[in-house]
Amino acid sequence: MRYRYVSILRGFLNVISSCSFSISLAPDKHNLSVSRLRKLNHWRSPNFHAFLPIASSIPALLGDMLAGAIAAPPVTWIANPAGTELEMSMMDWLAKMLQLPQEFLFSSGGKGGGCIQASADDAILVAILSARAKVIQLFKDMTKGQVLDKLIAYTSEEAHSSVEKAAQLALVQIRCLETDEKFALRGTTLAAAVREDRKQGLIPFFVCATVGTTSTCAIDNISELGLVCEAEDLWLHIDAVYAGTACICPEYRHWINGVEYSTTFSVNPHKWLHINPPCSAFWVKDRDLITEPLDVDAMYLRDRSTNGGVRMPEFRDIAMAKEFEALVLADPRFEIVGNVVSGLVCFRLKGDNALNKKLLAMIDKSRRICITPSISRGIFYLRFCISVCTTESRDVVFAWEVIRHEADVLLSS
Ligand code: PLP
Repeated sequence: MRYRYVSILRGFLNVISSCSFSISLAPDKHNLSVSRLRKLNHWRSPNFHAFLPIASSIPALLGDMLAGAIAAPPVTWIANPAGTELEMSMMDWLAKMLQLPQEFLFSSGGKGGGCIQASADDAILVAILSARAKVIQLFKDMTKGQVLDKLIAYTSEEAHSSVEKAAQLALVQIRCLETDEKFALRGTTLAAAVREDRKQGLIPFFVCATVGTTSTCAIDNISELGLVCEAEDLWLHIDAVYAGTACICPEYRHWINGVEYSTTFSVNPHKWLHINPPCSAFWVKDRDLITEPLDVDAMYLRDRSTNGGVRMPEFRDIAMAKEFEALVLADPRFEIVGNVVSGLVCFRLKGDNALNKKLLAMIDKSRRICITPSISRGIFYLRFCISVCTTESRDVVFAWEVIRHEADVLLSS
């Protein structure tokens, strides 16, 4: 819901920016229309030269509106198959435009691919947490805590603050290394730091290089850093969030020469590619490196989506859940799992998990209603949630009829 309000606000701002008045950031030049916007930092003004760009465009707004209207988040394939596959294709298109190595593409048939993160901060955090998990499991004779104490990451003193923040969240040390006269991090500096730290008994594991630093748009020497990372077996993440998008142009592509050494790579289409925020593109050469350590394996995400409830709950939802609960309780073959306190009813056929899995498969196959399973204390059950504001009492009855019919078929077979 909040996301939709943000989209509307964004649309509003774009309408403003397309109006003919020009905006100066100096208060004395504000005309009447603008003065109402004094508290708004107007990023779309031709006079706005602060920070780094945040993109916006009419096609992106139309895309946002479409996404808002469909409102089907592609959190997993099952939650939004078309959205997930479109995201995969789009990530491959962008990777090809950037001439990323084949290993980063889904279409290579390997383990690589990309996905959209909300921000570059998220991409860096995902990278460092995954790198941490990868290295921890190498030290089988040490506890996790002992390894954590020794882990050390590297970046340049010019890197974005999110790199240090990610290290803090990952509970690892980080060294912000000196840059050369062009504010770029060089391979020799990294190699010396790694040597020194290994002597101290530390465990170097992660490097974040920047293509286009926030302060000066300096470009770290990726090829040099990549060679060091390869020799020292370090995870190289390339934060190319701003300048990286320019590498679509052949004349700038050399900025990311050496990207083949990186494990993960990110650019922000919302910075320089006319895509409204948030949109951070993040690629990895081996998806298992990310999915294995960070997979919490929630049943509802694995099999189905629970993301129907993006709107504010309404109390009638609870009344309808109670109505469904009464229908379940009236059938002695079924039982309720837990308490019905909201718009969610957890229920199952009395019997084993296999029986309930079969029932779910049959309900799925009927394609008349969509429900999600979960598992608690080893007990598999079905979840019936009032998710959509157009659901009415007759839909609850219809759902129960479908479930009861499939149960009849199953139990008589
Ligand atoms: N990295 C660099 C080099 C940046 O310039 C920025 C933001 O300007 C970020 C990371 C953070 O980007 P985001 O706002 O997508 O988290």
